[in-house]
Amino acid sequence: MEYREMKKIGAKPSLLGFGCMRFPTTVKEGKEVIDREYAAGMLDTAIKSGVNYIDTAFPYHNGESELFLGEALKKYPRDSFYLATKLPMWDVKTKEDVKRLFYKQLEKLQVDYVDYYLLHGLNAGSFKTVTELDIVSILEELRAEGKLRYIGFSFHDSYEVFEQIITYYNWDFCQIQFNYMDADEQAGMKGYKLTEKLGIPLVIMEPVKGGSLANYADDIKNQFYDYKPGYSLASWAMRWVGSLPNVHVILSGMSTEEQVLDNLKTFNNFEPLSDDEHTFLNEMIGKIRARVNNGCTGCRYCMPCPHGVDIPRNFSVWNGYGMYNNAGAVNWNYNDMKNNNSIASMCKGCGLCETKCPQKLPIRKHLLTSYEELSKVI
Ligand code: SF4
Ligand code: SF4
Repeated sequence: MEYREMKKIGAKPSLLGFGCMRFPTTVKEGKEVIDREYAAGMLDTAIKSGVNYIDTAFPYHNGESELFLGEALKKYPRDSFYLATKLPMWDVKTKEDVKRLFYKQLEKLQVDYVDYYLLHGLNAGSFKTVTELDIVSILEELRAEGKLRYIGFSFHDSYEVFEQIITYYNWDFCQIQFNYMDADEQAGMKGYKLTEKLGIPLVIMEPVKGGSLANYADDIKNQFYDYKPGYSLASWAMRWVGSLPNVHVILSGMSTEEQVLDNLKTFNNFEPLSDDEHTFLNEMIGKIRARVNNGCTGCRYCMPCPHGVDIPRNFSVWNGYGMYNNAGAVNWNYNDMKNNNSIASMCKGCGLCETKCPQKLPIRKHLLTSYEELSKVI
């Protein structure tokens, strides 16, 4: 297992971190719950191979992830692993909420302290709460009491917001979403470089883009397999992120034993991408991007549609499917858009949107085609 010391705080986490939001599930008394026996076995396999960074959060698995970990980790000495969990920012309305939620988490996790404590999913809105309630001072109090060790945040917003947050406090670490297809999204490569400059170690989430980068159409898959036989698509995504030196932990939300073993193969003998592999991957990124169905940039100039259609979202789902073959994402988005009447089939063909699209897209025609194609997928 590769370990990269976070010199700033003197911690030595494993480069592969176990993300605990996608455990295998089963149905009990009509409720979807974690398949605890199977999930505990996966955790054991990972820990035995040197994984020592376990990442959870209050809402994962409807609150069950922390409860499950409280049971599953009991048999390991507390100082043999780093436990990361997150303050659910959406539930914080007053200063008192911070400690109340934190102590609830300690109880669920059955531990006396948390190693890495993150403000969950900061964006411009929740950052306002952080500053107004001076939440960092409350976390510092908890740290002084020995209840948590390192203070950080996870992030979902634009680079500009990221810059504001990361320079607000001397964070021990931070967690961003980062993968080879989205190097210009959210904090992105620019954000990565800023953390390097500031000396703030990084934890990476969604390195495989929620599984999308491990699920291409066959012709794309085969080009990866032909170039490096025996290596999974996920391993390319992990190695791209891990080739960056300020990346100290790469979280993988593993759902099967097979995924655990594949990741262990990648991280037990971690090899950064070579120059030739970088060149190959850049070519593949171009080929994957070329599979979008239209050139919608998501600018939203066409909005609002008088009949409620969310045009950019419909195109984003269609283009995503073209690149990643991700039927699960189509299913989820289509159900959601059906529920709020923003799906492509609500288009009445008035043409107003087409007068405003800078890309001159035939929006009506593309909405129709996308709906026909994607209805077959779900
Ligand atoms: S053409 Fe369709 S999508 Fe465009 S504004 Fe009219 S109803 Fe909305
Ligand atoms: S205006 Fe055109 S490019 Fe912009 S979101 Fe609408 S369809 Fe996409």
